[in-house]
Amino acid sequence: MVRGWGGWLTILGMTVAGCLFCGIVAGEIPGDVVHRSERVVAVRDINPQAKTHVLVIPTVHYEDALELATSDPAVLAEVIEVGAAVARAAGIFESGYRLVFNTGPDAGRTVFHAHLHVLGGEQLGLFGRVS
Ligand code: AMP
Ligand code: ZN
Repeated sequence: MVRGWGGWLTILGMTVAGCLFCGIVAGEIPGDVVHRSERVVAVRDINPQAKTHVLVIPTVHYEDALELATSDPAVLAEVIEVGAAVARAAGIFESGYRLVFNTGPDAGRTVFHAHLHVLGGEQLGLFGRVS
């Protein structure tokens, strides 16, 4: 499943080469998985920024949303569909939710395996410039 080198990871005090989300997809790194199919895995974010905060991750390693879109648009569509299904399962489909792809340092990107954030379950703040 690992298509590219994903950088360095520190796990239990050891620094290893690899990709955190490839590790979660492979079941080698623990994750609170809420959805799993051949092409998409969804896990609860370890540091939630809203009552509901789930990450929808393609099982194949793509660097970012653009690479996912250009390489496999059907998987991008499935990622968005799973995001909506996660919102429905969490009971926030009607109250509203936010789908976010972060890209690059100004967006605070930390994991370089494409993933969609699903946020909701409470009134979300405005997004954009810091204060
Ligand atoms: P981004 O900043 O868009 O790259 O988002 C990466 C997200 O991954 C952050 O919201 C982190 O809280 C989340 N995260 C980091 N490690 C884990 C983990 N082991 N399990 C679940 N979520 C994680
Ligand atoms: Zn990866």
